[in-house]
Amino acid sequence: MKEEMEKLISLQQIDSEISGFDQAIAKCEGEVVKREQAIQEKQDRLTTLRAKIERLTEKQQENQSEHDEAMARMKDRQNKMILVQTSREHQALLKEIEDNKKLARETEERALQFIEQLEQLEAETATLDNLCKGEQELLAEARQGATKEIKRLSASKKGIENERKAKAEAVEAVHMQRYNKLISRRAGLAVVAVHDSVCLGCHMTLPPQQVNEVMKGDKLNICPTCQRILYFKEPTENQEEESLAE
Ligand SMILES: [Zn+2]
Repeated sequence: MKEEMEKLISLQQIDSEISGFDQAIAKCEGEVVKREQAIQEKQDRLTTLRAKIERLTEKQQENQSEHDEAMARMKDRQNKMILVQTSREHQALLKEIEDNKKLARETEERALQFIEQLEQLEAETATLDNLCKGEQELLAEARQGATKEIKRLSASKKGIENERKAKAEAVEAVHMQRYNKLISRRAGLAVVAVHDSVCLGCHMTLPPQQVNEVMKGDKLNICPTCQRILYFKEPTENQEEESLAE
């Protein structure tokens, strides 16, 4: 049984290593995705800004036409002034001139606001556009780096996967079945150590009788809480010092 346990322990070590590689690969991929998302967010903002600029430019042009028309009407009424006969007509023309003068002033003020707003939006767009371009360059570099790193990790993973295959074949079928079931149901952790009477898989305290059995190692010991396969780990010197210090 002790020999069988050794095999299971070393199989667990290999599987933990494999899952470490999987996590490292996922991390590499995740970093690239994060960069892509950050760029996408900026591009979305750029699209919004450009649409705003377009709308504002249209309004600016409308305002300009309004201004030009008011000025034209004002000149037209001023020219007509000499032709009017009655005081009523005179008054009516004067009012029109005043109204158009007022409109011309208002549209002029608005024109300045449009210029200011457009300048702000264009500055923001330019900054964001530059930022985007810089990030795109970094993304290309990050992609290259990630591809290289993933290739390296995958090669290492493949190496130990072959090792795993050989080890797994040496384990008894019935134990292998239990082991595989635990690996898939217990987050990749099937074989765990007992330390200070505690199962290091679920961190529950084991009954003293079971701890003794685990220490003896004559049979396959299963944690009553998480069902993982238990083994006794001789405390290392550091751990002994730690427990003395406690
Ligand atoms: Zn447990």
